[in-house]
Formats: sequence, C-alpha cells, structure tokens
Amino acid sequence: MRDDAAPDLNSRYPLGAGPGQGECIHIGEHVRWYRIVSSGAPMGGVNIWALRDGDGWAIVDTGFADPDTAAQWQVILDDLALPVTRIICTHFHPDHIGQVGMLQERFDAPLFMTDIEWQLAKRIDAAGADRGPFTELLHRCGMGAEALAAMAGGRPGRFSSGLPDRCEILTPGETIAIGALRWRIETGAGHSPRPAILVSDEARLALVGDQLLMRITPHVGVDAEDPEGDPLGLYLDYLNAAVAMPQDLLALAGHGPVFRQPGLRATEIADHHDKALRSVSQTLGTASLACDVLMPLFGRIPSGVGLVLALTEALAHLNRLVAEGRAQRFLDAEGRYRFGPA
Ligand SMILES: [Zn+2]
Repeated sequence: MRDDAAPDLNSRYPLGAGPGQGECIHIGEHVRWYRIVSSGAPMGGVNIWALRDGDGWAIVDTGFADPDTAAQWQVILDDLALPVTRIICTHFHPDHIGQVGMLQERFDAPLFMTDIEWQLAKRIDAAGADRGPFTELLHRCGMGAEALAAMAGGRPGRFSSGLPDRCEILTPGETIAIGALRWRIETGAGHSPRPAILVSDEARLALVGDQLLMRITPHVGVDAEDPEGDPLGLYLDYLNAAVAMPQDLLALAGHGPVFRQPGLRATEIADHHDKALRSVSQTLGTASLACDVLMPLFGRIPSGVGLVLALTEALAHLNRLVAEGRAQRFLDAEGRYRFGPA
C-alpha cells in the first residue's frame, strides 16, 4: 500500500524511475534491466532482469501470461540477441511466473525456484480456475454476497503459459555462478512463502523480487489455505533481518525503481506495519470484521482486485494482533472471523 513518507533521495535512486516499455538500462557489464508495462501489475509494470550467462542470458522473472506481455517479450528477446540459458523466478505469483512456458518452449532453458515456491506454482497451475477456498476466505473477511458473486462471475486471468515438469531448486546458503558473477541465494517470507533473493557481493547487487519495494509496501495477505496464518509475523521477521543489509547494495526490485539503502527501506516498511497494527488495534470494536478495518489501515475502501488484496492484508494485520496477544478472534454464526480486544 502507498507509503509517501519514504525519503526521495537522488542518491537512493541512481537509475531514476527505470526503463519504459521497450527500453533497456545497463547495470554494469553483466546485468540488463527491462520492464514489461502492465496495468495489472503493482506500479504499472514488472521488472525483468537479464544476467549475462556465457553466450546467452539468464532471465529473472517473466511477467504475466497474457498476450500483451508475450508481445513485449519479443522486443526484449530481439534486444538481447542471444539465447536464454536459464529462467529464474523469485516467487510463484502470476506476474513473475507467467511467461516461463513461452521462454521454455523457445529456448528449452531450465527453471530455477525455491522448493516451496515451485510446489505452489505447480499446485495452482493444476487447480486451474477453482477459486472455492479463496471465495470462502473473502466471506470470512466479511465480503458481502453480492461482491462475492460478482467476483466469482469474473474470468480469472491465466496463471501461467505452462510450467515444466521439473525445476532446479534454489537453496538458501548456496551460491550459483551466472557468467562472471556469483550469486548467493537468500530467502524471504511474508509476501509469498519462500521467495528467492540473489545477492552478488562483488557487483553490490541484490535481486530482491517483491520482498522490498520502494513507494509501496509489498502486499502481505493471508493465504486461503491457511486462514488463521500469520504471514505478517513472518514478513516482520524477514524485515528485522533485512535491516542489516549493506546500505551500498543496489536492490533490484520486482516493481518500480531500483534503490540503494535496502536496510533503511526494511526499517521504513517495518515502521509502516507497526503504525498500521497500532491503528487497527485502536479502532477495533468488540466484534470487528476484516472489512471493518480497511479505513484505519488504508484510508479508503478499494474496489475490484484492490479490495481483495486489501481484505487479505487486513486479515493479516488482525491475525498478527492475535498472535501478539493484542486481539482475539472468533467465528460468528455466519462463519465470518470477528475480532475484539484481547
Ligand atoms: Zn510482483
């Protein structure tokens, strides 16, 4: 969600806002930065990273599975002019995994992900359009029957353009060589269960995926299959550790600009959630629904997909308050989660 309090220091954004559609920014000799412009993505686009890998390019993240993204990929591939050697996905979300199938089909390049992100991607790809558990979660958050019916009637976007049968698993602590650079594998949590973060100590670069973003805070929502889970607690643990990231690292994020001082950004995002937790706990009634805390959390009631993301994020804050002993949770007669002071 929006966070305008972030200091906008020039030194923090050495490469400005980033490439427009069809443009490329070179980051040193070994890395190229592209952006797939897409109205469905946070901040209007998905960053694509190409890492020089011998006689080709390793690609990090791929955009949505829609035809417009595929058309933008053609321009990127023409610019790269060499084959794709590997495909790395930071996490399983559709704006990152969407074009894996297309790239695999063209280049027969292996896919690299962490174990949990890979398993989730396979499971969601196989489930197709079954949104039963998700509809149930939104009901539990207090979404009305009319809004639920409208959502169920909408056609979901395609999750992927196909996934391979197997994946090379990225394990935290290991180091992989890609061309001249060595990348250390770290993992995050909260925005998705175990996203990969790749750090090159020599090039002072960190491919952080959506774990740290400038201008907005990454979405942290409760998962439909774990409605009483505490993803915000996991994310705050991650941020706590990320505070120690060297401030001269250039964070190559999944959306928006790239930035220095990633540890400072982790502090800012943690502060944002601290404040959000405080305002939710202060406005909590004796039997509040997740939909009742949207105003104190976001200052507005979003619509469409924004409402879905806001509700799962509101539930994440409420579940965190329960985990901290600052609120209690119970189910009402309609099977909706209610929250009150502990
Ligand atoms: Zn994303």
